Amino acid sequence: ALASAPRHPAASLDQARLGASLVRLAATPAQRILARPERTAREALNARLPARTVQGVLRPLLAALLADPDLGTSSRRADLALRAFARGRLAVPEGGAAALPELLAAALPPGTVRTGVRVTEASVSRVTTAEHGVFRCRSVVLATGARTAAELLPGLRTPAFHAVTVLHHTAPVAPTGDPVLLLESDPGGPVAHTAVMSAVDPGRAPAGRTLITSTVLGTPPDDTERRVRKHLATLYGTSTDEWELLALRHTPDAVPAMPPPHDGNRPVRLLAGLYVCGDHRAASTAQGALASGRRAA
Ligand SMILES: Cc1cc2nc3c(=O)[nH]c(=O)nc-3n(C[C@H](O)[C@H](O)[C@H](O)COP(=O)(O)OP(=O)(O)OC[C@H]3O[C@@H](n4cnc5c(N)ncnc54)[C@H](O)[C@@H]3O)c2cc1C
Repeated sequence: ALASAPRHPAASLDQARLGASLVRLAATPAQRILARPERTAREALNARLPARTVQGVLRPLLAALLADPDLGTSSRRADLALRAFARGRLAVPEGGAAALPELLAAALPPGTVRTGVRVTEASVSRVTTAEHGVFRCRSVVLATGARTAAELLPGLRTPAFHAVTVLHHTAPVAPTGDPVLLLESDPGGPVAHTAVMSAVDPGRAPAGRTLITSTVLGTPPDDTERRVRKHLATLYGTSTDEWELLALRHTPDAVPAMPPPHDGNRPVRLLAGLYVCGDHRAASTAQGALASGRRAA
């Protein structure tokens, strides 16, 4: 669903062209996309499609998929994100993002995983923790975010990051019952996209209440909550005066940037017995993190 998409006489023709382009992309093998010339997504899309389609539809969609409103991401990565979108559906893990690691951990023998243990030093043979002493070992797999990985293993590259701010509101009445992602095509923000998450996955909402989750990309403005609330009133076409803010989370290092040239297969084996994995060694998504974890394993 697109908020404030331009109403232009040629819009339906643009829509048909975009549809055909997405169908072609969905049928293109990933390896062929990875062999294409690489530039920024912005340059590639502007060369391929009318500016109206890029600005009105693809920029806001890719901004949501890549957390990159300026489309500085590698065109190959952007095409792979659009291909995944065209082949499947947008989805979130039922119960919240933590459901996936919890399922993975549940398949391991009891006691295998300890959480809340902060590592302060790591090498092939020993791991030092803040509160739980030193663990001796024969090998180490370091699976933190990129910044911590580079602090623990100096010399590792630290990428640039896209910042993400997420706001969770509850409202007396849901502004829509539809489980749709609402994209803002006006880059002026502050909201980039929003959804009534209680309609998508009621398990995420406080018992019996509505949950509206909205995302601000990049550096959030001063007075974020007030501006977001005002913007949401326009996007949903309803008063937000009675809405209550449940949480606001700002993550400066949310998503490692993937400018061209982007290597989605960064080595995970640094030395015999020393491995590093995570989204920063592959693509900046949960799927990329899983793929690099598989390579490390
Ligand atoms: C707001 C937001 C929304 C997102 N939405 C999506 C989405 O819709 N789809 C998608 O595919 N991706 C999304 N992502 C990106 C996705 O979450 C990441 O790509 C993915 O979680 C990366 O997994 P990872 O295992 O590499 O790192 P992380 O999930 O960051 O895991 C690293 C772990 O290391 C731990 N750690 C860090 N330092 C230490 C230390 N010193 N000692 C011990 N442990 C430490 C951390 O606590 C953390 O548990 C989103 C990210 C954010 C921030």
